[in-house]
Amino acid sequence: MIYLKTDEEIELMRENNVLVSETLAEVGRHIRPGVTTKRLDEIAEDFIRSHGAVPAFLGYQGFPASLCISVNEEVVHGIPSSRRVLEEGDIVSVDCGTFLKGFVGDSAYTFAVGEVAPEARRLMEVTKEALYKGTAQARAGNRVGDVSAAVQEHAERHGYGVVRELEGHGCGRKMHEDPGVPNYGARGRGPLLKEGMVICIEPMITMGNKAVVFERDGWTVRTRDRKPAAHYEFAVAIRKNGPDVLTDFSMIEKAINE
Ligand code: MG
Ligand code: MG
Repeated sequence: MIYLKTDEEIELMRENNVLVSETLAEVGRHIRPGVTTKRLDEIAEDFIRSHGAVPAFLGYQGFPASLCISVNEEVVHGIPSSRRVLEEGDIVSVDCGTFLKGFVGDSAYTFAVGEVAPEARRLMEVTKEALYKGTAQARAGNRVGDVSAAVQEHAERHGYGVVRELEGHGCGRKMHEDPGVPNYGARGRGPLLKEGMVICIEPMITMGNKAVVFERDGWTVRTRDRKPAAHYEFAVAIRKNGPDVLTDFSMIEKAINE
C-alpha cells in the first residue's frame, strides 16, 4: 500500500529528516581515529532525544542501537560497539532514523576517517553522485525503475558493484512503506511515482564484487570479498515541480569541513 502525503505531512517529514541531517552533522564532528562506534551512537541518541524526538532504529525489529554504523567492508546495519575503534583511513557509513510528530526520518552518509585512500574517496564520491542521479528521476509520471536504473548505471559505469539484497523504500508514519526502491532495474518499469509519495533512495555500492554476506550477529551486512562499500540515503518527496529532497547534506558537509 502506497500512502500519499499531504503538504503538511511532507513538512513533518522534512522536520524529521533535517533533524537526522543535524544528527549526522553532530556525529560527523566526532568522527576521528580513536573514537568508538558506541560513542558515536551515544552522541546521536542524546542529540535526537534532546530535540524531542526518539531514535527510530532503537528497538526496530530488535535492533540494539540508535545508529547503524558500518565500517569499510560492512555495507549496512553495523551494530555500534565499544570494541570497534575507528582508524585513520576507514570509511564509515552512518545511517540514522528519527521518530517525531508521528513521522519518521531516515538518511545516511559515508564519512572518511582522517585521510583515506584515493580509491575509497572515489567510491564515496561516485556513490553520492549515484544518489543524486537517482533523485533527479524521482518525478511524478516516472516509475521506480527510472530511479533504480539511474543509480545502477552511474555506479556500474565506474566499475562498481550494486548490492541487490537491500533496497530503498517508501517512508512515512512507518520507516518502511511501499514501494521498494531497488538500486538496480529497468527504465519505465515498476510502480508509478505520484505527487505526494515520499521515498528513501539509498545506493549501497561496492568497490569490488556486489555479493554480500549477512553476519552471524543477525544484522551486519558486509561484502563477500571484504572490499569497501559506501552508502548514502536521501528522503525525497515527489512534488508538482519535481523531487523535493527532505534531507540536508549541506549541514553534514559544513560540519565535517569545519
Ligand atoms: Mg536509512
Ligand atoms: Mg532507509
